[in-house]
Amino acid sequence: MHAEQKGINEECGIFGVWDHPRAAELTYYGLHSMQHRGQDGAGLVVNSGRRLRAHKGLGLVNDVFQDASFQELTGSAAIGHVRNATEGSHTYENVQPLLFQSQTESMALAHNGNLINADSLRTELEHEGSILQTSSDMEVLAHLMKKSSMETNETSIADALNQTTGAYGILMMTDDTLYAALDPNGIRPLSIGRLGDAYVVASESCAFDQIGAVFERDVLPGELVAINDDGVQSSRFAIRGQRKMCSMEYVYLSRPDSDVNTVNVHASRKQMGKELAKESPANADIVVGVPDSSISAAIGFAEASGLPYEMGIIKNRYVGRTFIQPTQDLREQGVKMKLAPVRGMVAGKRVVMVDDSIVRGTTSKRIVDMLKHAGASEVHVRIASPPIQHPCWYGIDMSTYRELIAANYTLEAIGELIGANSLGFLSEPGLEKAIVKDKSLHQGICTACMTGDYPVAKGAERVLTHKRS
Ligand code: SF4
Repeated sequence: MHAEQKGINEECGIFGVWDHPRAAELTYYGLHSMQHRGQDGAGLVVNSGRRLRAHKGLGLVNDVFQDASFQELTGSAAIGHVRNATEGSHTYENVQPLLFQSQTESMALAHNGNLINADSLRTELEHEGSILQTSSDMEVLAHLMKKSSMETNETSIADALNQTTGAYGILMMTDDTLYAALDPNGIRPLSIGRLGDAYVVASESCAFDQIGAVFERDVLPGELVAINDDGVQSSRFAIRGQRKMCSMEYVYLSRPDSDVNTVNVHASRKQMGKELAKESPANADIVVGVPDSSISAAIGFAEASGLPYEMGIIKNRYVGRTFIQPTQDLREQGVKMKLAPVRGMVAGKRVVMVDDSIVRGTTSKRIVDMLKHAGASEVHVRIASPPIQHPCWYGIDMSTYRELIAANYTLEAIGELIGANSLGFLSEPGLEKAIVKDKSLHQGICTACMTGDYPVAKGAERVLTHKRS
């Protein structure tokens, strides 16, 4: 496997506040609402006006901040991060925001996504004498910015970003400015909200609701937003490509109460279920969803098929998500602890089990087994997204070709492997129909892990000018 493919495994959440007396506290609440985006580390950097100060650690937001006194983290601006670590990167050094101190300034950086050419940039920097302390893409970016200018400003950020390829939402904070930048194809989500006079920026709009902020707008593809005491300035660091929002944000990653690129996640999942019922109906008695991310699609499937939706599986809320556990053993143990069948609902019934996606197939097999042990006479598995046949280059932990069940087996073989009586996937046009309501607003989605059609090719670094809009 190419070295740059190995470092693509990150799904994170970022949150920033400008001009609020309780910036650190708001960041804590914002991060808490995005805990589902990363459970291995959390941190924030607060700007007291005189200096930037970090508090971060490994673990859940509550673990990291249990001892943090927000009285000590005073300041009117902050950025924060929740992190999903991959094998080998689960270290304190990699927890963001990264804080850099130089002769001229302090600067903090946090991101969600992946720079696909980070490894080659890192090699170049090392050849030039840089010594990097983390495996984070953001340290590479910070070095590129410093090479461009001693001071962080729109030009140095644009220069650095234009040497990178990838999918990212980035927050940066200096003594006097909060910056937000989005990749030229807008693959990752990033939105701006208002809380009175304060500005907030977040990966997901559910973070705004958590703190009582109001959504204002999404950061645009290739846009660099600078927020400071002069207000908000928008500039373009890249020619705006066609928006290709990650479709997995809708399928699985985002919270149902979030609006991603103006589309509500629950509503899109419900529509995926409806499209799936049309494309792949089943002779069955009840529809059940795998909690939590498949419930909306299961409700849609039930509505469109006329079958009753029942709570056939329940979730123990005190166990973390399986998809983002760093090892396969932990993932499988997690499933056992996490889900339980509602025997009285499924016994003797032909069950349609709706799930959002199949990655490795091991989780689906366990759930099918569990339903059959609970007495289900048949289990018809319906997946509310197309088969995942390709790895993600843009920051989502999707495994390698070798581990992706749909990259290695036919539909029939997958059905047999997971023990389903029948198996159906949503088609790619069905997925697009469920997400893209208004092409003029929404343009398009990334479906590269399903189709192999990658919107940003490796080695496609852009050479662009920096334009203020
Ligand atoms: S490849 Fe898949 S997971 Fe990655 S950004 Fe595209 S749709 Fe999202």
